[in-house]
Amino acid sequence: MEFEPVIGLEVHAQLLTNTKIFCGCSTRFGEAPNSNTCPVCSGMPGVLPVLNRKVVEYTIKMGLATGCRINRVNTWARKNYFYPDLPKGYQITQFAEPIAEHGYVDVEIDGSKKRIGITRIHMEEDAGKSIHDEHQPASYIDLNRAGVPLIEIVSDPDIRSAEEGVGYLRRLHEILVYLDICDGNMEEGSFRCDANISLRPKGQEKFGIRAELKNMNSFKHVQRALEYEIKRQQYILESGGVVVQETRLWNDAQGVTHPMRGKEEAHDYRYFPDPDLVAIHISDEWIEGIRETLPELPMEKRERFVVQYDIPLYDAQVLTASRALADYYEEVAGKSGKPKIASNWVMGDVLGHLREDKKDIEESPVSADSLAAMIHLIEDGTISGKIAKEVFEEMWKTGKEPTVIVEEKGLVQITDTGAIEQVVDDILEANQEQVEAYRQGKEKLFGFFVGQVMKATRGKANPKLVNALLNRKLSAR
Ligand code: ADP
Ligand code: MG
Ligand code: ZN
Repeated sequence: MEFEPVIGLEVHAQLLTNTKIFCGCSTRFGEAPNSNTCPVCSGMPGVLPVLNRKVVEYTIKMGLATGCRINRVNTWARKNYFYPDLPKGYQITQFAEPIAEHGYVDVEIDGSKKRIGITRIHMEEDAGKSIHDEHQPASYIDLNRAGVPLIEIVSDPDIRSAEEGVGYLRRLHEILVYLDICDGNMEEGSFRCDANISLRPKGQEKFGIRAELKNMNSFKHVQRALEYEIKRQQYILESGGVVVQETRLWNDAQGVTHPMRGKEEAHDYRYFPDPDLVAIHISDEWIEGIRETLPELPMEKRERFVVQYDIPLYDAQVLTASRALADYYEEVAGKSGKPKIASNWVMGDVLGHLREDKKDIEESPVSADSLAAMIHLIEDGTISGKIAKEVFEEMWKTGKEPTVIVEEKGLVQITDTGAIEQVVDDILEANQEQVEAYRQGKEKLFGFFVGQVMKATRGKANPKLVNALLNRKLSAR
């Protein structure tokens, strides 16, 4: 029997606000433990939460960017459970009436688009962190993260493979970062994912029993964990067994999932409306105001680049990896008037050097303006493509303008036919044996002569002229 995977993902994204969701404490990562805390986020009795308006604004942004309906009235709930890193004994979240519902993102799989539904997006507070140090006799609690704003994005069970799952995650990640509402750092936990997965016989409508996977800290982990879990469940079903509904942890070192807790231990969260927080009322004006600030989203940008700049989809994908990179490219393409050449330089030389230097595009020592100026120098014949590489290296090292470097180093291309002819004559004179061999039919030697001329002119001779002159002189007797 053939089985089909059914997957739904729950993503938690930390919002890039300066302060926490219900108090004024800083959200900065990596501060001394418990330094960013106050009576509200450490759960002291008698305190009251005050909602951070930015959290609502950012969530509306994400809702709009993913085609969700924004619920004009939405409410807060308490999710009750006991855990040391949850000081109040409950998490403030949204339950019955979330802020956004019924959205989608399109994912590209093998060149075709697949639409994955978004069930809901809701706001909630993060919990603190337990620290278990094997050299210490006790466990510690750091509440710096308690009260940091999160959005949870729940997908419909529309995903049918590990590739689709990762594709969907990458899209969400990309949108969040483009919107500038999440830093997307998976290692620091700003973007986390739980996966629900079941198998059903192909053609059957009813879903099978699912397992929930946790502890995946990279796209690669998600891919591997889903692949493993599909195989594990398939093996169980093929041998006549039943999948147990449970939460399982991905162990990346071993490449397997382990049971964490079963249904018997499943939480009863006893959700109920939070009496300390009133319902949120969102006006149409507010929503429209936010809609106007939405940037062009990555997929739209890619599609526009392909059409507007006539570059391959692959180039467009690389160049839109971040908003800053896309802006940089557009400036080079626009100012140079040569979009494809601009794409080659940005994708090759600029990105290559950035990777080497571990820098972001914002820190590039070569500005888009200077790169465009350099492309102009190639186009108008001032420098050859080969010399341009040398000029670029120098620009990267010194931050100087290309015209300055060309002048200082005397790199202007030699386009004076007389000057090149002199060099060609000298080279032919000095290599008479090769000239004879060439004339006997050893045509491969042409490259040797070109190389000699280039060497003698330190790469500055205009290659077209060199070729033409050599051709003429070698064929003349
Ligand atoms: P819970 O209350 O356990 O979090 P939800 O109904 O909120 O469950 O669903 C969580 C996620 O699991 C959603 O992304 C949903 O699409 C997915 N899901 C629900 N049922 C199944 C199933 N049988 N197989 C795979 N995924 C499922
Ligand atoms: Mg859920
Ligand atoms: Zn606080």
